[in-house]
Amino acid sequence: MFILLLGAPGAGKGTQGTILAERLGLPKITTGDLLRAAVKAGTPLGREAKRFMDNGQLVPDSVILGLIKDELARPTTAQGAILDGFPRTAPQAELVDRTLAEGGHRLNHILLLEVSDEELVKRIESRAGTEGRSDDTPETIRTRLQVYQRDTAPLIAHYAQRGNVQRVPATGTIEDIATEIKRVIGR
Ligand code: ADP
Repeated sequence: MFILLLGAPGAGKGTQGTILAERLGLPKITTGDLLRAAVKAGTPLGREAKRFMDNGQLVPDSVILGLIKDELARPTTAQGAILDGFPRTAPQAELVDRTLAEGGHRLNHILLLEVSDEELVKRIESRAGTEGRSDDTPETIRTRLQVYQRDTAPLIAHYAQRGNVQRVPATGTIEDIATEIKRVIGR
């Protein structure tokens, strides 16, 4: 079972993805975490990614497509996974669709976590205080929301055409949202 979490920065994909992964016993693939680990480790990938991340821009597909391919090829994620933070562009979506299809799989659920822009900014700003992410400054937050609207939101239409986008109002308590997701996916 493959579940894609879609939504703007701050929509709660990471939090709900972790809950979902634990509940369903599935691994979670989070490109943001993988990139931050690469930055911390100072690998060539990390050094390349850092300058884009710090500005709130997407890391180029030339870098990300290989990462996604590697993650989906892992034996641990071959039979199912929660996808968090990708695909974020049309080429990434194509790669995911194609790779899953090659393994005889598909995205079983596409969950769109919906939160107002106002609430998103509030959440990221309060997270900035606790997590200290270098891309949680007011200016970068604004850029990330714009990049989401420009590059990632169009994927909603791509998937909606196939009819399997499930919208989840993602305001309320973490438990309420988790319960709603459980209801929506039926398990
Ligand atoms: P958020 O969704 O809150 O912006 P993420 O942790 O998902 O946080 O991403 C942080 C940054 O990492 C992004 O702004 C971008 O630079 C980079 N990133 C993460 N995933 C991708 C991806 N799939 N494609 C391109 N860049 C990505």
